[in-house]
Order: sequence, then structure tokens, then C-alpha cells
Amino acid sequence: MGTQVAVDVWHKDKNIAAQCSDKVFIEMRRIDELMSPFKADSELALINNLAAKQEVRISNELFDLIKFSLEISKKSAGAFDITFASVGYLYDYRQGLKPSDDVINNKLEFINYKNIKLNNKNKSIKFSRHGMRIDLGGIAKGYAVDNAIAILKKCGIKNGMVSAGGDSRILGDRQGRSWMMGVRHPRNKNDIAVKLPLTNTAISTSGDYERFFIEDGKRYHHIIKPATGKSVDTTWSATVMADSATLSDALSTTLFVLGDKKGFKLIDSYKGVDAIVINSKGKMFYSSGLVAPN
Ligand code: AMP
Ligand code: MG
Repeated sequence: MGTQVAVDVWHKDKNIAAQCSDKVFIEMRRIDELMSPFKADSELALINNLAAKQEVRISNELFDLIKFSLEISKKSAGAFDITFASVGYLYDYRQGLKPSDDVINNKLEFINYKNIKLNNKNKSIKFSRHGMRIDLGGIAKGYAVDNAIAILKKCGIKNGMVSAGGDSRILGDRQGRSWMMGVRHPRNKNDIAVKLPLTNTAISTSGDYERFFIEDGKRYHHIIKPATGKSVDTTWSATVMADSATLSDALSTTLFVLGDKKGFKLIDSYKGVDAIVINSKGKMFYSSGLVAPN
């Protein structure tokens, strides 16, 4: 996944704890093999190669995750859209490469989640346009973290935490106390913008500092506004807490695109979901479920 994975578990038997974390890493690798856009033989790559030509039967697992992605797209009026990749694949943040405005304009019509057709009966996917691509980078890490937590639970572990990059989920508590989770300052990685005491919850942060390059004073980063095919320039970071990491991951990316005003309307439509936005002026906003400090 091109990201760092961390597993913390408490169990009185060291061997069980170790075996269980091994299982988690195996699962993370399995999901990466399935959903990586960079691996030529992943199921995702198969979809991108074939789905414009024919219906492609896919695993239930990928089908369900794509279906869930489409629900978030509908709810967010297209702010979350896995077809962002139709333009998104042209950015290379490591090499500092971006598509020209002309190329973006030519490809922009391929960003539209409505062009993904799912067939529930035979679990297949079809694209209505040639030139479309999908990428699950905005949701797959959260999904992997949820699966990891399910593995920990099965192992009999009651307290632990799994993180994959900006997506974490806490199981239980930390020996009777909350976990203190810090949201980093988007412009100073050694500073914490806010600390949150958490138990039994998932938390995801999307930030414009994760994958980016700067050219002529402008930051080009990995979260793309589907309407323009360009990096969102109104937000520095968006954090979401929810029961599942699949949801917190998808919503943090969505909130990053929408910003606080529109984004919090969406956040408030979910029960038990809270969020924090730091906009591109460095101002911090809290959703209604959280109390802003004085
Ligand atoms: P996250 O770090 O979870 O916010 O996810 C960022 C990743 O989501 C990017 O690296 C892309 O793979 C993907 N992504 C970027 N823009 C969008 C978008 N508008 N909708 C859905 N996924 C996106
Ligand atoms: Mg996300």
C-alpha cells in the first residue's frame, strides 16, 4: 500500500500476540495484492484493463467495497469518486510530474462515478466509457484496518490498535485509559494540532502533506477534486472518527474535498461520526459532535 502499518496488541500470552500480529500483516499484504493500482496482476488492474470492453466478474469483497464507494459518492454529490483516477494516474508525486491543463480537460469527462455499472446478480462491473480508471486509495487502507481488527478480535484480543498510514482503529482501551491520538499539524510534522482521548473507535486523517510536490510555489498533492482534476487547495487536513475505519477513511477524503461547511453537513448525517477540518488558512473547525476548546 506504500504505507507504514503498525499493530499494537495486549495479550498475556506473548506467543498469541505475535501470531495474531503476523496474521494481520498477511491480511494487509493480501488486500494490497488485490487492490493495488500499481501491481499489473491485481484485481483492480484487471478491472481497469477490461471493464470498458466487457462486464468483469469480480470478488464479492471488491464488489462490496466499490458499491460502498459509490454510496459515498452519491451522498457527497461526487466529492468522493474512485474514478478520480482517470486523471489522477497522470500525477507522479515522487517524480514531481503533473498533467498539463489540456490533458486534464480532455480526460475530465472520464471522472464520473455514474459511469460505473455494478451488476448485483453476477457480481460484475462494467465501465460505460473507454478511458476511465478507478483507484481505491481513498478507502482501501481503512478497509484493511477493519479486517485487521476483525482478526485481532478472533484471536481473543480485547485491547489493541492497528494503523495503516493515516487510518487507525482502536480496539478497547489502553489498560483502562483512553488512547491519546494526536492529529499532526499539517505544516509542521513535529507539532500536534489537537490531541483526542479515544477508545473503541476508528480515526482517519487525510492531509495534503502525505504525497505531494511543490512547483512554482504551488502544492500538487494526492487528493483530487473530481470537478477539476486538480489537487484540492482549500484544505490542509481532514480528520474523521467513526465506528469503522472503512467509513472514517472514505469520509476523511470526502471531507478534505468538501471543506468544513459542506463537509460537516455530510458528517452530521451520520450518527456517531465526528470530524475536524484544518483549512488552507490554518483555521481549525470542529463538527457539532465535538466541543471546540476556548
Ligand atoms: P486518504 O489519504 O485516505 O485521504 O486518501 C487519499 C487517496 O485517495 C489518494 O492517494 C487517492 O488514491 C485517493 N483519492 C484522491 N482523490 C480522491 C477523490 N476525490 N475521491 C476518492 N478517492 C480519492
Ligand atoms: Mg481516506
